[in-house]
Amino acid sequence: MGERGVCVSGAERCRSDSVTIMPTLKQKKKALANPQSAAGVTLVGWRGVTVEVPEDWSPTAVSGEGASGYVRIASPDTRVLEIKWEEARGSKADVPRALARYVKTLERAARKARQTLVWRERPKQLSAIRPQRQRPIPYAWEAGRKAYGCIWQCQECNRLVIAELVGEPGDDLSLAPAILRSIQEHGENSWTTWALYGFAVDAPSRFALEGKILRTGHQCLQFRERTRSIQADRWGLASVVLRSVDLKDWFLSQQGGRLNRYRYQFEEAEVNGHPALRLWGPERPLPGLMRALGALFSFSWPAWWIRGYVWACPQANKIFAITSTERKRDQLAEQVVGRMRCHEASGAQSC
Ligand SMILES: [Zn+2]
Ligand SMILES: [Zn+2]
Repeated sequence: MGERGVCVSGAERCRSDSVTIMPTLKQKKKALANPQSAAGVTLVGWRGVTVEVPEDWSPTAVSGEGASGYVRIASPDTRVLEIKWEEARGSKADVPRALARYVKTLERAARKARQTLVWRERPKQLSAIRPQRQRPIPYAWEAGRKAYGCIWQCQECNRLVIAELVGEPGDDLSLAPAILRSIQEHGENSWTTWALYGFAVDAPSRFALEGKILRTGHQCLQFRERTRSIQADRWGLASVVLRSVDLKDWFLSQQGGRLNRYRYQFEEAEVNGHPALRLWGPERPLPGLMRALGALFSFSWPAWWIRGYVWACPQANKIFAITSTERKRDQLAEQVVGRMRCHEASGAQSC
C-alpha cells in the first residue's frame, strides 16, 4: 500500500501534495445507528470508489488524479473512515503482501508512540463482509486508537483496497461491517459515481473531474473529456430562492454569463416527476480570428452545442442543473440526468 498505508491516527500522516483537504459543509445533524436504513445513509463517491456512510458524516480529504487514490470521511464525533486503493498487478500474493507491509507500518507507529499494537486477523464481527473472490482479509487493531478494517483485491478492476474505520477506545465501531460491506471499488458499465455531501452525479468514466465548488449553499462538479464537458450544479434552499423569482430567471442570474456563447432556448420538460426546463442551442458563430485566438489562449476548444436541464426538487429543497457542451448529436446531458436521483423515492430528505 505504499509508504503510509492507511493513516494510523489523525490526518497529518496522510497529507501529501496529491490529497485535497475538503471544506466542512453544514450538514443535517441526525444520529443514526443503522447505515442500512435508506433514510439515514449518504453515498460518498470519489474516482470510482463509493461507500455508504451515515448522512452526517463528511469527506474530509480526497486524492487527486492517478491510478491510486484515497478518501477520508469523518463522523461528527471521533470516528474516521479511510479508504485507500491502488492498481495492482493482480497476482495472488498482492493482498497478503500489502497487508504485511501495513502491519509493519502500524507496528512502527505504535513503537514510536510507546504503545503496543494488538493485531487480530479475521475477527468474527467482520466475517463475510466481502465476496470471497476478492480474497478479503478483515482485521482489527488497537494501539491508542482502535480500528476495524479489511484489505481486498477486485478481480475486475484489479484495484487493491484497504479500508478501515478508526476510533478512540470508547467509540462504538459497530457500523464497521455495514460500511465495509457497502464499498464498491469500481463504477458500473463505464459510469463513475461522484458523490459528496449528498450530491451524487454519475459521469461517463472517460470524463475527468476538472473542477469543483463545494460551498454550503452551492455544490458544482465539472467534468471534461477533450472538447466535451459536463457541469452538475446543486443549490440549497430552493423554496426560499424561488419565492420571488421564477426558475428560468433565477438560473440565468446564476449562469447566464456562461451561456452567452450559445444561441440557446428553453422549453418545458420533466425530470424525476418535477417540472423542469430543458435548454439547448448551438454556439454563436465567432469571427475567424477570435475563434483562433480563443483556441490559442484557452484550454477549452470551442464546443458546438450546449444542452441541459434545470429543475427544483421540493422533496430535497434543492435546485439542480446539469449542462453539457457537446457535439450536435451527443446526448450527454440527457444521459447524466437520466441516471440522477434528486430525492429518495421514500420521500426522505437526502438528495
Ligand atoms: Zn473493482
Ligand atoms: Zn427530486
